[in-house]
Amino acid sequence: MYTALYRKWRPKSFSDVIGQNHITDTLKNEIKTGRLSHAYLFIGSRGTGKTTCARILAKAVNCPNVHDGEPCNECEICKGIDSGSILDITEIDAASNNGVDNIRDLREEAAFTPVKTKYRVYIIDEVHMLSQGAFNALLKTLEEPPEHVKFILATTEAHKMPATILSRCQRFDFKRIGSEDMSERLLDIAEKEGISLTTEAALLISRLSDGAMRDALSITDQCIARSKDIDTALVSEVCGIAGKEYLAQTASAIYNKDTAELLAIVNRLYSEACDMERYCSELINYFRNIMVARAVKNPERLIVCSAEDLEEIVRLSQIFTLPATISAITALQQTYAEIKAGVQGRTAMEMALIKLASPDMDTLEESVLKRIAELENSIKNGVVTKKEIIVEKAPQAEEKPVVTQAPKQLQQEPEVHPEPAFEPQEVPEPEQSFESVSEPETEEPAQPVSQPEVTEEDTTDEVKDIREWPEILQEIFAKNRLVWTILNGTTAKAIGATIVVKGTHPAISDVLSVAVNAEDAVECANAVTGGGFAKIISEKDADEVLSNIKFSKDPLSELVEKAAENGIKIDFK
Ligand SMILES: [Zn+2]
Repeated sequence: MYTALYRKWRPKSFSDVIGQNHITDTLKNEIKTGRLSHAYLFIGSRGTGKTTCARILAKAVNCPNVHDGEPCNECEICKGIDSGSILDITEIDAASNNGVDNIRDLREEAAFTPVKTKYRVYIIDEVHMLSQGAFNALLKTLEEPPEHVKFILATTEAHKMPATILSRCQRFDFKRIGSEDMSERLLDIAEKEGISLTTEAALLISRLSDGAMRDALSITDQCIARSKDIDTALVSEVCGIAGKEYLAQTASAIYNKDTAELLAIVNRLYSEACDMERYCSELINYFRNIMVARAVKNPERLIVCSAEDLEEIVRLSQIFTLPATISAITALQQTYAEIKAGVQGRTAMEMALIKLASPDMDTLEESVLKRIAELENSIKNGVVTKKEIIVEKAPQAEEKPVVTQAPKQLQQEPEVHPEPAFEPQEVPEPEQSFESVSEPETEEPAQPVSQPEVTEEDTTDEVKDIREWPEILQEIFAKNRLVWTILNGTTAKAIGATIVVKGTHPAISDVLSVAVNAEDAVECANAVTGGGFAKIISEKDADEVLSNIKFSKDPLSELVEKAAENGIKIDFK
């Protein structure tokens, strides 16, 4: 007869329990030193090892041959507890035995000394399900426990526990088991079972089981029923999830606004009996990975997937803006909730994906903010256009690149005009930290002249203020919200083709050291100023550049100049 992996490989000692060292170490210590509590409370989500640890603890407090805090697993008592034949150890499922009578029976029984073991141990699973009366009865026992009784209470929902019970127990919080730990354990079990399991498949199973070992082993069991060679394709098939190529295809089609392709993908998945709820949840996770890949330098630590998957995720993270990624996650989360609530999965997914591929239809806050930022820019450019017309007689005016773009952008988004309600509070204004910001109104003719100046500076490498910085920040707001969040309130100077940013946010240097962030910022700067920038760095990283500037002139000749200005005569010998 086939024994389920979960039963077969259930840990028998504390050292076999993975991912809960903070708990098993403490329990082993208590057993070694004999400082045992009379009541324990194990809290944690399902499949994290609460009842497994409860059984090991029941053995450890009773085993006559305890070694280093671990039960021997050889003696009559250990074996009896494992097989469930020793009646001094009682497991109660509070979900089905939640009445006051159940606990009263327990109390009467607990008064008797145990038959075979040192302690009677009561393991009460899902203890939060007890009725109020049952809790009160339990509380009386916990207040005056017989010497020979231990309680181990386990629950997934600590917040449903009365404070009076909580305060009388030693509490342990079980963590979700990390993907790395779990996949390692799966690979270990597979090897001992003579099953071929790829590392990628083990990671995928870990991710799908969300930190619950029981679920991971039951997925593995289902795979074994199909084949002894387990790879990601088999896991995807068994779990009814979309394979990785569907996710990348979906994301790409959203980016390309290819609604026909999106509908074709959903149709294909639907006809292959793919579960739409799972597809949606995987897609949320996929966009979360894109967001992570965009925000951090070494995403592989935070994203559980294969190397080739990661490559694709990083590629997508470079083309999706942060607002677009966040809109996608928010919209898909909404859809996920709808599908869970019973909305027809296929239609819900089709609607969500078409919406994502047509951001104009989207009314989500992130998307609206993005559009308002774009609109603001075009209005700004529009105002500039008017100025250009007035100043048209002035030379160089037609060289400004914005002149040709501005009217087009205004035409594209005229429907947003009737929504002025958003403008005052919703659009964060970049802080105006430059004195010159308010000046352009009076300084109109001078502005076009500042353009060629930038290119001149390239050769001299002088330090210059970037007057357009607030406008550049506004561009960045629309393009890369993460960068904007960090750079908002900064000031900036130009050293040749390098933008040097000065501000108080501790992450300025970090955020600009990520290539895609720096590229976005430089692109925005060039869009506003008409070009000429190639690099952006934090002031912290600019010391070297700055010191080069300082000494770009020969210090001796500078001194001679200064002296001459002040009428001091210097003789050279
Ligand atoms: Zn033993």
